[in-house]
Amino acid sequence: MQRPAGASSARDALRRAASGIALIDHHAHSVLRTGPDRAGFEDAMTEAHERPPAPATAFDSQLGFALRRHCAPVLGLEPFAPAQAYLARRAELGAAEATRRLLAASGIGLVLLDHGYAAERLLTPAEFTTVTGVPTRPVVRLEAVAEEAFEASRDAHELVRAIDARLEAASATATAWKTIAAYRTGLALDPAPPGDGEVRAAAADWIATGDRRLRHPVLVRHLIWWALSRGGALQVHTGFGDPDLLLADANPLHLQPLIARATSTGSRIALLHCHPFEREAAFLCHAFGHVVMDVGLAVPHLGAQAPGSIRQALGLAPLHAVLFSTDAWGLPELYLLGSRLWRDAIVDVLGAHVEAGEWTLDDAVRVIGMIGRGNAERTYGLSTEGERP
Ligand SMILES: [Zn+2]
Repeated sequence: MQRPAGASSARDALRRAASGIALIDHHAHSVLRTGPDRAGFEDAMTEAHERPPAPATAFDSQLGFALRRHCAPVLGLEPFAPAQAYLARRAELGAAEATRRLLAASGIGLVLLDHGYAAERLLTPAEFTTVTGVPTRPVVRLEAVAEEAFEASRDAHELVRAIDARLEAASATATAWKTIAAYRTGLALDPAPPGDGEVRAAAADWIATGDRRLRHPVLVRHLIWWALSRGGALQVHTGFGDPDLLLADANPLHLQPLIARATSTGSRIALLHCHPFEREAAFLCHAFGHVVMDVGLAVPHLGAQAPGSIRQALGLAPLHAVLFSTDAWGLPELYLLGSRLWRDAIVDVLGAHVEAGEWTLDDAVRVIGMIGRGNAERTYGLSTEGERP
């Protein structure tokens, strides 16, 4: 990596610390099975559903500039190679080789993988590991489990039993649960666990709609409380995402009553991504010892402005409560960007603390290790000694 002009020895030490960690990406998805054409590639660079009118391009964005800066050299091109040259080189190498190179350059040592969205277009977790050499652990998407049960059930009684049986089966291997309530009901849910009768009535309502997509708030609460009652870790998508969610309803502050009620369960709640509500999420981490957060997803999209997001998270949030993720989906470039931009940003933010005399270098190095790896090991009870590269 290029040494910025005027870099201090503290920043050099932090840069070495950040680049030396085999990161644990505590939430991401697999990559596309086949190399996309330019339109498909650009679609995967943005959360928008609509393409911008020509000649506008998704490459003219913070993410696009960061991609040309950081990914082009990994594929053997000059930094900032034009988009067309980048895509031509990528096609020449093939999707598997591009994926292998980008994941190797990311320095990510373990991925907690949510394979519950558009899985048919992506490498399976086993294929992902074969191509990249990076091991994965399963994050089970609660709504996807319920939707599989929906297809196999004829009445409400059978549906509720099928949901619970499938969750029970998934619990044998799940490292974490995940809810996309933000996309389905918004996060302003009644905080109480629903009663059995309510759940059965809701299941009947769902069947009556004939629509596989689960949107019933009582059933979403049932799934959430099923996971919380197991005392494990529940990931909750909050903040920025695609336009299927209403951003105002995805503010993590809506979860405060539910978080407070879950205190006694012994479970951990991971607020995913959180942008632009980093400060709100940081407050929840501060106020509740069982809450952690990340700013993945936002980091690659914010590009050169990613330090601002990380700076906000590292305000109120206790330092044991901030985790690293990429939330990469589809493009292996998003793994590299999530990792590279995070490493640069954490050096930027903590380097300023050290240079101002407010933090010691040793503490800053230790915190980089906590956020990059240690906090995820503790949150998910991971035993990963054998997986360090
Ligand atoms: Zn995700």
